[in-house]
Amino acid sequence: VGWWDHVAPAAKDPINGVTEAFLADPSPFKINLGVGAYRDDKGRPVVLQCVREAEAKIAGSEFLTKMVEESVKLVYGKDSDVVKEGRSAGVQALSGTGACRLFAEFQRRFHPESHIYFPDPTWSNHHNIWRDAQIPERTYHYYDPDSKSLDFAALMDDIKNAPDSSFFLFHPSAHNPTGVDPTEEQWREISYQFKVKGHFPFFDMAYQGFASGDLDKDAQAIRIFLEDEHLIGCAQSYAKSMGLYGHRVGCLSILCVDSKQAAAIRSQIQQIARAMYGSPPVHGILLVETILSDPNLKSLWIDEVKIMADRIQRKRTTLRQNLEKLGSSLNWEHITNQLGMFCFSGLTPYQVDRLAKEFHIYMTQDGRISMAGVTTGNVNYLANAIHEVTR
Ligand code: PLP
Repeated sequence: VGWWDHVAPAAKDPINGVTEAFLADPSPFKINLGVGAYRDDKGRPVVLQCVREAEAKIAGSEFLTKMVEESVKLVYGKDSDVVKEGRSAGVQALSGTGACRLFAEFQRRFHPESHIYFPDPTWSNHHNIWRDAQIPERTYHYYDPDSKSLDFAALMDDIKNAPDSSFFLFHPSAHNPTGVDPTEEQWREISYQFKVKGHFPFFDMAYQGFASGDLDKDAQAIRIFLEDEHLIGCAQSYAKSMGLYGHRVGCLSILCVDSKQAAAIRSQIQQIARAMYGSPPVHGILLVETILSDPNLKSLWIDEVKIMADRIQRKRTTLRQNLEKLGSSLNWEHITNQLGMFCFSGLTPYQVDRLAKEFHIYMTQDGRISMAGVTTGNVNYLANAIHEVTR
């Protein structure tokens, strides 16, 4: 008795809260633009064909342990020296979230006085993850609401003004929630300035393939940092890119000076994981490993990633065209300029509320639209509703 009387309910997660409101709405017209999970043009969740085929292949097979190596190749390129030299300390992680959490814990152990710089804004769970690892956060300028694009000058100033040897988190492509990424040239400048300042780059790559439809292109930012000989941290998730949301397959890798350092770091991260959850479930790892190490399945996967990315891109075009056809006096170019799963619409919290109450359309309060929820069947209705609340 009395043990838990002082426990109050936790604050609602901003993303899960949207799904709850959506589920409670009986309207047949309702649309969920909250969660960042891919849906097909009929609004249905998708099991990729490469995953179905991998399922059939893995029946009865042994655990191969090539998942980490294959994941590192996706980050740095299949012919990269990093892989050949064994310079990357990689471990399996519980999807992208778990990879970030392991890194945050590792950071606290070996740099206990450090901070982490997040882009403003960033995926809301980043705040929770580093808070729970007791790493204080700071933010760097990223998004400019007026131009609905990158505030590059302010970003560079923040990098220059941060204390030397600071930890920075980047989204290498398809930034969540804004859909705004630096250009190749801008990444080169950022990487250069990181050399000058001795900062540590941590890339949270949750959407590889979703920005351009091309896995290598979406890792270009990291490859630029590699060329400039940075030591790099990377969290990878297969939730979006392979549609393995519930399987929780991911990878944390840290680039090291040599294979000896990689072995030490790997053993430390494994020890952290062991005390947190022992070892990850193997089924999803086997699926990923089978897809990545079988050339036919891998090329099927690459095609399927492109199909998903292209569908989202087409819906951006249609949504923008429909708004323009309705005679909206606002500029909607950012819908097609932004990349990846999300469109940072610029809708105000009041307009987001009106969309929910009057049109049964649900999204996070910051106006983030999950483009994966937009379909041929609902895009007209959505454009009309957005036009109504913004006129
Ligand atoms: N990082 C970013 C930027 C994300 O948007 C997400 C998912 O929404 C994740 C990490 C983690 O995804 P998961 O843990 O499902 O792989």
